[in-house]
Amino acid sequence: FRSSTATLPAEFVPLARAFDSMASQLSQREREMTAANDRLTVIATLDLVSGLANRRGFQSRLEFEWMKALQSGERLSVLMIDVDHFKLFNDTYGHPEGDACLKRVGEVLSAIATSCGGFAARYGGEEFCLLLPNSEPAHAMQVGEDVRAAVEGLAIPHMTSPGKAVTVSVGVATVTPGDAQPEDDLIEAADAALYAAKRRGRNAVVEHGLIQPAQPAISLAG
Ligand code: GH3
Ligand code: MG
Ligand code: MG
Repeated sequence: FRSSTATLPAEFVPLARAFDSMASQLSQREREMTAANDRLTVIATLDLVSGLANRRGFQSRLEFEWMKALQSGERLSVLMIDVDHFKLFNDTYGHPEGDACLKRVGEVLSAIATSCGGFAARYGGEEFCLLLPNSEPAHAMQVGEDVRAAVEGLAIPHMTSPGKAVTVSVGVATVTPGDAQPEDDLIEAADAALYAAKRRGRNAVVEHGLIQPAQPAISLAG
């Protein structure tokens, strides 16, 4: 609040002015702190290697989209994306080169998320997630195939992997949110599908409960 100088005896006016200036500095300081706090909140949900949201950011977005889907009755899809033979990539090219690879995969995901109204995140390690609100299972599978093809299209050399290039495996799960299905089940389903994609030979997209035809590129024992 501000003191009114109009009703004060003259000798108090300088004091009142000093008080006013202090109060305005304080509220300026408060605004700065709020802004700094907002920035920290954003930073805490970001992954610095990929530039995408981190797991915490993904989790809070998932909760938000889940509540929206509960209200609207719309479907929600999650894609789990894992870089194939990434340990070998690190062993062959070194950790910094591995980080650069994750950054490029992150850029691909970010572009695809933007073009389809999804939300991309780095779930952890060499694992990424794509959240697709209001998505049909067939559409989610198509986006999964877009991701797989786009990463393959980067043609990042990986000479110790069977396909000689960096690829990803993708697990896809879609649900209509209901009280009986907690959002964690959606992640688990996508994770199970991802595991199936690895088993199929990697560089593949698998939907939970459904198996896609084999990708032509690579086939190796998991
Ligand atoms: P798979 O095809 O079955 O997924 O095999 P993989 O080697 O990719 O999987 P695994 O889980 O055995 O190894 C994951 C590797 O990812 C091990 C770890 O060193 C590497 N990794 C995890 N996070 C990072 C990171 O931030 N930067 C780099 N460079 N490597 C990472
Ligand atoms: Mg991997
Ligand atoms: Mg992994």
